[in-house]
Amino acid sequence: MQIPDGSRLDYSTDKTKWNRYSWGWLGDKVPEKSRGWTDQTLKRKVVNRLQEMAKGHTVLCHCGYHLCEICQKKGRKLKEMIGMNGSFLIKHRSREYRCPAQVEHYILEHDYNPGPKPIAALFEGKWKTRADEDKENDREMDRWHKKRAKARRAEERAMTPEQKAARAAAVRLEKFAQEKLKQLRRDGALVSSSYTTKVRNNHTMTSTDG
Ligand SMILES: [Zn+2]
Repeated sequence: MQIPDGSRLDYSTDKTKWNRYSWGWLGDKVPEKSRGWTDQTLKRKVVNRLQEMAKGHTVLCHCGYHLCEICQKKGRKLKEMIGMNGSFLIKHRSREYRCPAQVEHYILEHDYNPGPKPIAALFEGKWKTRADEDKENDREMDRWHKKRAKARRAEERAMTPEQKAARAAAVRLEKFAQEKLKQLRRDGALVSSSYTTKVRNNHTMTSTDG
């Protein structure tokens, strides 16, 4: 899968966020502008940093193995393609940098150079852990629920008395139906849906034959 460096698109969720910076999702080639290192010492430092931080910072795990499409295109054997799973998330200067966990392979094997912004994030940013990510998702969910409840209250305030009465009647009706179903199940009058379907089908066949 390929996402241009600097894109706000997220690999795992397909969502965009204003403060996201995706990098290292190369697909089957390294773009011309992202190839080559003039500073070999920096390249080595970047690889070392990635290897050192890889211990415990693979936060997002995707299903299955991610194989290098560049190696695949070159027809390399499977064991040379380094299948690694997941993403690194780094917060730096109000941005969130996301890259595949095997980005080191692209640097070492295919001379990929992500440019100064991700490199600065690698050394100066805060590497997120899975716990950090979970906490953030929970907060986001909370915000979403609160926003929805607020919208619902506003909607109710804007209703005419007739609309309010109609909604209350619908709620009562739904409750009544649920109670009735429960009662039917308790009494054994309601059988499982697959059985109902079988009975109905048989009945249809019989009526057609008849
Ligand atoms: Zn490769």
